[in-house]
Amino acid sequence: MEEIAALAKRRGFIFQSSEIYGGLNGFWDYGPLGAVLKRNVKDAWWRDTVELRDDVVGFDSSIIMHPSIWKASGHVDAFHDVMIDCRVCKHRFRLDHVADRSQCPDCGSKDSLTEPRNFNLMMRTSIGPMEDTSSTAYLRPETAQGIFVNFKNIYQTARKRPPFGVAQIGKSFRNEITPGNFTFRQREFEQAELEYFVPDDGNDMNAFQEWVDRRKAWYASYGIKPERLRFYELAQGERPHYAKAGIDVEYLFPWGWGELESIAHRGTYDLDAHMKLSGKDLRFFDEAAKQHYTPLLIESSAGMDRTVLTFLVDAYERERSVDPNGKETERGVLRFSPRIAPVQVAVFSLARNKPELVERAAGIEAALRASFRTQYDEGNIGQLYRRQDEIGTPFCVTVDYESLDDGSVTVRERDSMRQQRVAGAGLEAFLRERL
Ligand code: ATP
Repeated sequence: MEEIAALAKRRGFIFQSSEIYGGLNGFWDYGPLGAVLKRNVKDAWWRDTVELRDDVVGFDSSIIMHPSIWKASGHVDAFHDVMIDCRVCKHRFRLDHVADRSQCPDCGSKDSLTEPRNFNLMMRTSIGPMEDTSSTAYLRPETAQGIFVNFKNIYQTARKRPPFGVAQIGKSFRNEITPGNFTFRQREFEQAELEYFVPDDGNDMNAFQEWVDRRKAWYASYGIKPERLRFYELAQGERPHYAKAGIDVEYLFPWGWGELESIAHRGTYDLDAHMKLSGKDLRFFDEAAKQHYTPLLIESSAGMDRTVLTFLVDAYERERSVDPNGKETERGVLRFSPRIAPVQVAVFSLARNKPELVERAAGIEAALRASFRTQYDEGNIGQLYRRQDEIGTPFCVTVDYESLDDGSVTVRERDSMRQQRVAGAGLEAFLRERL
């Protein structure tokens, strides 16, 4: 993990937030490559969840909403972690992370742990110019509630009837007591949530299973190693009392299994809670049957930062190989799926100081830019390959002296490191087929 975090910093994927002021625990910034990677991951989720379906619409609600929303959802009263502290080393642990309460898991001291205490995880702010007269509000700890309270607005304006879904990607905030494991547990993070409303007609568990299968296929289509991904089925005692089914999608990180996403059958719990507190009717009106009913809810809630981290960890490899001169070398490589790689094609000029080569290579890069995510570079080819391997670029194109004679270029493939000569006229088609 340290190696990956170091690479992420060195190559411009992820930086610690507020670094020049000593950093801020639980907050991270995405650098030039990380911002593209994260955007690609979010776009991939949005494409599969919204654009490729005719029964899901998009949504974008505000981060700060009426405080009553968090009362209705249960977050004001129940959204807390139970924590215990070690009196000796002062470390704080989540109660459910401590197997043996007679001994500190960190310093090993006997009987040093305090009694469990509650910590509310919601971040507070205040609305209005004067803190003493303003009212307390919360930064949302999840995006889903914005969808629930707008349920009627959405189905009426989108002219949808259950089964249909509403999807949203956006920032969420939690005052996590123990942020850590790089970007796995943050205090500000991004979620991608799908709320899929179904009629209570006996097909609800099929809808649940369809979303589980769809999410499985999504991870697989981006090449996540199947042996490092599991869909853990929650037993009755492990899920909330109102949930009919629940699955945690987990990835095997270097420190163990960690949750990426949770898929749950939540019944009518969320809409019921808002109807009760607001006194407003959020039921769906079935024109044909001329009756109101509250749809059941299937939810998929995925963390985009954890998904980005998964793509980084899963793609990373340190590989030994023998170069053409018989010398043993080692390289770090990110084997990103070409669809999410921040750079898809890098184009190099073999020499920096040869204007014909530079011009030709820059021209090729500019022409490919309309079709792919590209980058131009020049200089020592070995070093350029190493850099592109480390940022996960699937193809490198090199312009050399031969290119000036016949227009051909060398294309080098990241994973096999195989190089081949490709005619200039056929280059775009060659890359398109492989990307
Ligand atoms: P955990 O048990 O790890 O705290 P959770 O069960 O509270 O997670 P959910 O409330 O189900 O998480 O949120 C849905 C998703 O949002 C999670 O699967 C995760 O990917 C993401 N997520 C939740 N908390 C964080 C966080 N602090 N940092 C980054 N992502 C998070």
